[in-house]
Amino acid sequence: DVATHFPVRSRGWFHREAEILKAVDGVTLSLARGEVLGLVGESGCGKSTLARTILQLVPTTSGTVLLNGRTLTGASERELAAARREMQLVFQDPYASLNPRMTVFDALAEPLRVHQIAPRDEIPRRVADLMARVGLAPRFMQKYPHEFSGGQRQRIAIARALALNPHILIADEPVSALDVSIQAQILNLLARLCREMNLSLIFIAHDLSVVKHISDRIAVMYLGKIVELGPALDVIDRPRHPYTQALVSAIPALKSDLGPAASRIVLDGDPPSPLSPPPGCAFHPRCRYAVARCRERVPPLLPAGENRTAACIRLDEI
Ligand code: SF4
Ligand code: MG
Repeated sequence: DVATHFPVRSRGWFHREAEILKAVDGVTLSLARGEVLGLVGESGCGKSTLARTILQLVPTTSGTVLLNGRTLTGASERELAAARREMQLVFQDPYASLNPRMTVFDALAEPLRVHQIAPRDEIPRRVADLMARVGLAPRFMQKYPHEFSGGQRQRIAIARALALNPHILIADEPVSALDVSIQAQILNLLARLCREMNLSLIFIAHDLSVVKHISDRIAVMYLGKIVELGPALDVIDRPRHPYTQALVSAIPALKSDLGPAASRIVLDGDPPSPLSPPPGCAFHPRCRYAVARCRERVPPLLPAGENRTAACIRLDEI
């Protein structure tokens, strides 16, 4: 039941109390060894903050983050440094995470050296191994990031994340900046790495179709909360939460059992501000099934089929 709230100072002319941004608000999730979890939702729903909460890069307001039984919330910087070696982040824009003045060799050798993963004379071989693992020819070792395409740069960033032998990768929209044709290559690479190295992966995306093939389970987030969680294909083929149904219907090529009128469900407007979420079910202003009692209290995640949950009080009726 993890929450990460931030005080936000309003920039108005008149002094006002700091408002509270409930970026992550009561999330319970588990991630198994080797599992790929797709985390989906519109921008601003708290996906990236949840990733940073798991890594304890932001202070948690309440709740507990556990890594193999170790409590990370409230742990010392030293314990956190050890834990973060096991959990590596991959970002949307590899250009921002790679130093433009470092060759690929330097970028990959640095973590090996700093964390004393390999003795000095072994580093060139380890760098070549990392490059091969992500499908880059080791002869490109002395090149700089700008000499590579966007997809190749993301491969370098992934290789750098793998240098410390992590158990968990958290990839925050790792393909959103890439051409569609390249996206599939990076998705296949991540899926293969997870299989070969028994890595757990949290794959963050705003688009369900991106996470469809790679994920074992999918979690759908809306305004800081998980509103649906279940096996990936079940969630996409038979979405239960009205918000997930709208996301699925927005994927043009996806056949799903949305009833006879399986047409696109258009959501009105942008999600409301997380600074002032609507009362009750935060989705109610955009929900075509909303009734008066949806405004009364926040719906908890309720059983919605085998290994599935959804946060909607009208699951039986819709
Ligand atoms: Fe829609 Fe009500 Fe269900 Fe929320 S609880 S998703 S408003 S039907
Ligand atoms: Mg984000």
